[in-house]
Amino acid sequence: MFQFRFQTAIALCIMVAMPAALAQRQATSHNNEGVAAYKTGDFATAIHYFERAYRQAPDSSVVRRNLCNAYQSEANALALNNDYRRAVRYLEKAIEVDPENASPLIQLGAYHLRMDNLNPAIECLEEAITLKPGDLTAHELLGQAYYRDNDLSSARAQWDYVLEMEPDRPGLEAKYEKAFREESVEYDFNRWKSRHFRISYPPGVPDALRASVFSILDRAYVDIGRQLGGVYPPPPIHVILYTAEQFSEATLVEGHVGAVYDGKIRAPLTDADGVWLETRELERRLTHEYVHVAARHIAGANIPWWLNEGLAETLSKPLSEQDVRRLHDYFSQGGELTLASLEDNQINRLPAAELRLAYLKSHATVTLLWNRYGRARMVGLLRALGNGMDYESALHATYHRNYAMVERDVHAIYR
Ligand SMILES: [Zn+2]
Repeated sequence: MFQFRFQTAIALCIMVAMPAALAQRQATSHNNEGVAAYKTGDFATAIHYFERAYRQAPDSSVVRRNLCNAYQSEANALALNNDYRRAVRYLEKAIEVDPENASPLIQLGAYHLRMDNLNPAIECLEEAITLKPGDLTAHELLGQAYYRDNDLSSARAQWDYVLEMEPDRPGLEAKYEKAFREESVEYDFNRWKSRHFRISYPPGVPDALRASVFSILDRAYVDIGRQLGGVYPPPPIHVILYTAEQFSEATLVEGHVGAVYDGKIRAPLTDADGVWLETRELERRLTHEYVHVAARHIAGANIPWWLNEGLAETLSKPLSEQDVRRLHDYFSQGGELTLASLEDNQINRLPAAELRLAYLKSHATVTLLWNRYGRARMVGLLRALGNGMDYESALHATYHRNYAMVERDVHAIYR
C-alpha cells in the first residue's frame, strides 16, 4: 500500500588533462576521444575509449576517474529505464577501476536498496562512509537501509546526523518520526528469523499462534511465488506483528485496516478487544500482504492501487457469495468508482464503507483479468509496469484493453 521511490541524480565531471609524466600519446588520444563522446551523452562510446586508455595507462588517476564516471553515467541511464540489474554491473566495474572513490559505492548502495537487496546495500554504504565520512547522501541512504533491515536505532543514528547537518533535508523529518514512533512501540519485541523472513512480535504471543504465523508466511512465499510464475524476493522480508492497539499506534491507520505493507509487512494478531485472531483470518491477511511483496519485486513502486490491492485480494481469497451480491448492488446503483480514480493509495482517504467498495471493485477486476487471460498475462502486466510504462498503457499493451473496456467487462458480469 506504500510506494518506495528513490531516484539518484548524479552529476559527474570529466577530466581532460593527462598528467605530463604519462607520455603515452595513444592513451591521451583515447582519453580525449572518450571525453568528446562523454560530452555528447554517448556513454557507451566513451566507455569504449576510456577502457582502451585504461589498458594503456592503468596507473593514470585521470583515466581511472574518467572511466569510473562513464560507467556511473551509463548505470544512471540504465536505472532511469528501470534496468537496475545491468546498472549494477557497470557500478561494480566502476568500483574496481576507482576503488578510492565513494561515489559509485553510494550509487550502488542506492540501487541495491531499490532492488530490496538489503545486505549488499548496507555493505556498500558503510564502505562509502569509511571512504568519505560526512557524505549526507550516504548517511541518509545507510539510515534507510538500516531502517528497511528493521534496525531502528541504527537508522535513527544516521538520520540524526543528517538532520543535524541539514535540518530541512526533504522528507527526512517524516521518515525519522515514523521510525521513532515504531521504535517506541516495538522496543521490547522478540525476533525470529527463517530462511526468507525476519519476524518481530510482542511478548506474550502463544507459541502455537507464533508457529502458525511462521508456517503461513513460508507457505505464502512458495505458493504466491509459484502463482506469479517463479517470483522469489531476496531475504530478509520483514514482518512486524502487533496487538491491535500497538498496530494503530505504530502505523496510524484507522481501525478498519487489517494489515499494511510499507516495505515491511505489518499486521495485528488480535482484534480490537484483544482477542487473538483465528488462523484463517491471519492467513488471509498475511497472504494478502505477501502478494504486495511479490508484486513489488516485479513491478517496483510503479503499480496502481487497484491492481496492487485487486491482485492481493484475488490471490488471498475467492470472491464470496456476499461479495458477489454486493457487487451486483453496487453496479445496479451506478458503480461510480473508476479505475482511474483508484490509482493512488486509498487508505486513510476514503471513508470505511467506500473503501470496502474500492477493494471489492479492484478484487472483481483483477479476478476477471486473471481468470479470463491467465497468469502469464498478469505477470506480463507487472513486468511492463516494472519497465516504467504508465498504468493504462501497460494494461493496453498486455490485454489490448483500456480502462473503459475493462470496466465494461466487469460491469457485464455483475449486471
Ligand atoms: Zn493490501
